[in-house]
Amino acid sequence: MYEHLLRPLDLGWTTLKNRVIMGSMHTNLEEIPGGFERAAVYFAERARGQVGLIVTGGIAPNEQGCVSAMSAMLRSEEELPQHRLITDAVHQEGGKICMQILHTGRYGYHPKIVAPSPIQAPINFFKPKEMEESDILQTIDDYVRCAELAREAGYDGVEIMGSEGYLINQFIVKRTNHRTDAWGGSYENRMHFPIEIVKRTRAALGHDFIIIYRLSMLDLVEEGSTWEEVVTLAKAIEAAGATMINSGIGWHEARIPTIATMVPRKAYAWVTQKLKKEVTIPLIAVNRINTPDVAEEILAEGCADLVSMARPFLADPDIILKTMEGRVNEINTCIACNQACLDHTFQMKISSCLVNPRACHETELQYIPTNHPKRIAVVGAGPAGLAFAHIAAMRGHEVTLYEADGQLGGQFNYAKNIPGKEDYGETIRFYTQMMKKYQVRVLLNHPATVEELLATDYDAIILADGIEPRQLTIEGHDHPKVVSYTEVLSGTVNIGKKAAIIGAGGIGFDVATFLTYKKPDSDAVSAFLKEWGVDKDYLEAGGLKMPEPELPAREIYLLKRSTGKHGATLGKTTGWIHRSHLKAMNVHMLAEVQYLKVDDQGLHISIKGEAKILEVDHVIVCAGQLSSRNIYNALIALGKEPRLIGGADEAKELDAKTAIKQGCTLAANI
Ligand code: FAD
Ligand code: NAP
Ligand code: SF4
Repeated sequence: MYEHLLRPLDLGWTTLKNRVIMGSMHTNLEEIPGGFERAAVYFAERARGQVGLIVTGGIAPNEQGCVSAMSAMLRSEEELPQHRLITDAVHQEGGKICMQILHTGRYGYHPKIVAPSPIQAPINFFKPKEMEESDILQTIDDYVRCAELAREAGYDGVEIMGSEGYLINQFIVKRTNHRTDAWGGSYENRMHFPIEIVKRTRAALGHDFIIIYRLSMLDLVEEGSTWEEVVTLAKAIEAAGATMINSGIGWHEARIPTIATMVPRKAYAWVTQKLKKEVTIPLIAVNRINTPDVAEEILAEGCADLVSMARPFLADPDIILKTMEGRVNEINTCIACNQACLDHTFQMKISSCLVNPRACHETELQYIPTNHPKRIAVVGAGPAGLAFAHIAAMRGHEVTLYEADGQLGGQFNYAKNIPGKEDYGETIRFYTQMMKKYQVRVLLNHPATVEELLATDYDAIILADGIEPRQLTIEGHDHPKVVSYTEVLSGTVNIGKKAAIIGAGGIGFDVATFLTYKKPDSDAVSAFLKEWGVDKDYLEAGGLKMPEPELPAREIYLLKRSTGKHGATLGKTTGWIHRSHLKAMNVHMLAEVQYLKVDDQGLHISIKGEAKILEVDHVIVCAGQLSSRNIYNALIALGKEPRLIGGADEAKELDAKTAIKQGCTLAANI
């Protein structure tokens, strides 16, 4: 079991202990005071978890190449001591670490950005300055100097970021390189820049230093590379001295999802596999590889020599250790929600993880065994209650968990039924295992009552009993056509061919996805590639073709009272994907709607004063939620001091990120 995954990789002068790389992630830690100290603890924890090789977040080789004005660079010896904190910490744990060198080119968020040609990126306010030949030569020098300094800082190697639409990628493709000198025009000229960087880095650093080149194998933008160009570049990069090639999938400006939760597991491994026969150095597969089983499959099928898992190491630092020890069931799996990692990064906040709020906060949120075990009752086994019960029991408290339902998981039992959100079930699996491991007394089908809670002499009562869906109050709210999202997602009602959804928040969007979904004839990966227009045959540049979404299973109206575009409250890095998908499903998105009544004809509404009847079979209420406070109010009236977490505490704008963080934080301090 996992023989491919756990097999060492001999690089000649050194050996990686297994085939898993923790991929580069920008956490913003390197940008804050004391951040390198925190990053050292964060990386060391992952090294202790036995990952084969770690790659840091991107560090710029010069000022122009920074992600933002405050971003980390490595340009001088003065900057070495802070990097040594990281490399020493990782090496003390027996790990290996490479530093990623990232020049953002036209993607940087600051006025000093440069690019091969002065073409503004569609996702940036700043326009880049065109690089003079002297700037290009200086930048190559800066890359080499940065790699030399990385070696002095103790890194085992560097990753040269050549994908996702950053500077190197901007040189390679016609879309962004309109130069007519020796660095533009023919493909040979356009790929000259990365080849010089790799060649000169290898010459400066000798043979015993890892150089990973992240090569954009699938640009997913118009005027991107053709497959022939990708192969030509890969061969040239091998010849220039790279140790291995990592896969890059999609530019940041591409309108095709590459890592979000609706991307099926290992959806892009075929690209790496396509390149396997063209080069002899090891290749690394990436994107939506979130369990040891998926990783093992990719390696066993010969798609790649190594796999890179990035976000999964935020969710659980011990993936490899648990795999080695036969504890795969105990892995806290990344559900690809992007809510606490990528969404934070783009909001300039410290990254973390929805299912593991300790990630990047290792020095602040500590789970220390207690010297004073307490008897604790937890009411509600949704994400908040489970997170609390897990950490409190792990610290040594005696926990009883009451759950009214017959299963653990709370609202995640609905979330996991949404097509593309199946991974949310992994969180329930993880917590189920943790309840067993730490001997939480779980009482299912057991609604806690005030009397029962008082009858046992608990030292603390934690209320995580969640929310009640908000009900409609308009005329006809009790008409048989009106149903709640809970009835839809638990399959207790059969929805007709035409339905209106009241409320276009996260749940409204999810319900629309659920109701328009029709099982495709093909496997999940093929259906995904077809819907979004990704061509496995790679006939056109960038790997694009005409999108061909499935026909929707139903006609859906998604309604809201407020102004503005639908989905504006969804995640920064995922909202556009949900919106595009529902557009492809022909969902009618109506804003500024006033709800008037429901009757046999359907839903009566008015939009900007104009009355309308939506002749629908069902009206599904997804109009937000209210906290359940019955037990709380009763306990307070009796002079008790229960603690509230999750939806029970605050239903408005509550999400699982807040619920789990509240549960873990309270449990760490009780
Ligand atoms: P809940 O999950 O509501 O759990 C409360 C639990 O308490 C329930 O199991 C209930 O049965 C139990 N209970 C109630 N009363 C009693 C009692 N008296 N005794 C014992 N047990 C009791 N959030 C995100 O962040 N990202 C997403 O992508 C996302 N997707 C979602 C998709 C859907 C379809 C839905 C419905 C929700 C989604 N959410 C998402 C929201 C997220 O699931 C909630 O924010 C989260 O579940 C709240 O956790 P909680 O533990 O506070 O409450
Ligand atoms: P929500 O995002 O707050 O949306 C509730 C919607 O109901 C709003 O769009 C609001 O729209 C409408 N509404 C509020 N009061 C109403 C009323 N009295 N009558 C009619 N409509 C009303 O809440 P949710 O969709 O229930 O989601 C709950 C939480 O789960 C959210 O915090 C969300 O972040 C999280 N979640 C996240 C995701 C995700 O993909 N990240 C998915 C699902 C859920 P108008 O005011 O415009 O009408
Ligand atoms: Fe994965 Fe979501 Fe955690 Fe990011 S926040 S690491 S996507 S589970």
